[in-house]
Amino acid sequence: MNYRCLNKRCKNNENPEGSWYIKKGYYRNKFGKVQRFSCKECGKGFSESTFSFNYYSHLRLDAVEIMKMVSVGNSMRFIALHNKVSCNAILSIIKKISRNCLAVHCELQENLHLREDLAADGLENFVKSKYYPCDYNILVGQESQYLYGFSWSLMRRKGTMTDAQKARFKKLQIGVDYKNFTITRGFQSLTRLMISLLNTKQHFDENKILTVFDTDEKKQYANVIKQARKIQEYMKKNEFRHDVTNSKEPRTAKNRLFPVNYMEREARKDLKEMVRKTTCGAKNVCMSLDRFNLFAVYHNTQKKFRINDSVSGSWLRHAHFAGLDPVLTMRNYKRIFSERFFFSDFEKRFSDFQKKMWLRRIPTPQDCSKEYLPKYALL
Ligand SMILES: [Zn+2]
Repeated sequence: MNYRCLNKRCKNNENPEGSWYIKKGYYRNKFGKVQRFSCKECGKGFSESTFSFNYYSHLRLDAVEIMKMVSVGNSMRFIALHNKVSCNAILSIIKKISRNCLAVHCELQENLHLREDLAADGLENFVKSKYYPCDYNILVGQESQYLYGFSWSLMRRKGTMTDAQKARFKKLQIGVDYKNFTITRGFQSLTRLMISLLNTKQHFDENKILTVFDTDEKKQYANVIKQARKIQEYMKKNEFRHDVTNSKEPRTAKNRLFPVNYMEREARKDLKEMVRKTTCGAKNVCMSLDRFNLFAVYHNTQKKFRINDSVSGSWLRHAHFAGLDPVLTMRNYKRIFSERFFFSDFEKRFSDFQKKMWLRRIPTPQDCSKEYLPKYALL
């Protein structure tokens, strides 16, 4: 672990050299002795735990196990019961893991050179109640089924309502943001991510089109692609093509929407709140996105690429097929549960949506209370 001074005005704030800090006593907590240090330059103090995952936590839960449990279809209540702690304790550790997942996903993405086609779609679910259907917009690799990124949008309720239902629905407009979280906005966020990925791509075969992008026939998708200047430039150079497939086509492996259909299947299987006809439901949007985030990183880096394929070997993951180095992937995955990541290091590297997720600025319908974010998460 690399220590550094947390004083932003101090020269030891970034890549300090030599012996820049001194030992300065220790303190005890219920887990034992913790060494304190102080910066030679400005005197700012810190301790062994300042840079570790367990910073500011009074419980020592098995975060690796919890990440796994969330990503293989367990409810919050079951995980709490299994760990003999309260639901809130589980939620707060999931928030912490999710922030680290955002950081690690970002670091992995920066090491990635795109080498496959892409597909995008929305996974429909609901938050709070069935009055609020929503879409988890996903961008997936055609060959690797690596989940490059996701965003979230709130949709209007479909179907007819009785007068009583309409009156009730009108009352429930607190925390409902149909303007900032539309399908168009969500898809724009994925398009920006796609453009940054396209910039890393190289031609291997000059006769082939560089990237084919597949979606279903939703109008919003075509409109966003039409309006994206950079994408239009790629299209002029004959390096990009947007194909649409009817979503009612048979969901086979030959379907061009296979990667997104596959992701939907995985999410419906692995996230308790996504299961069809489940009795579990997400009560809070930020929390739901945190769980989706855990699922995404677990899917990319931990799940076997094809579970029944003995040839591909047991260590091949979706991330490896997307072109990420296995050692780098594993090293970064382990960092999720050992390190503390700082917002200031990622502020400029995150997308707008990732920033909103970290800062918990995505409102939940019917909920007027402000999302709690501990001060240490803002550093
Ligand atoms: Zn200092």
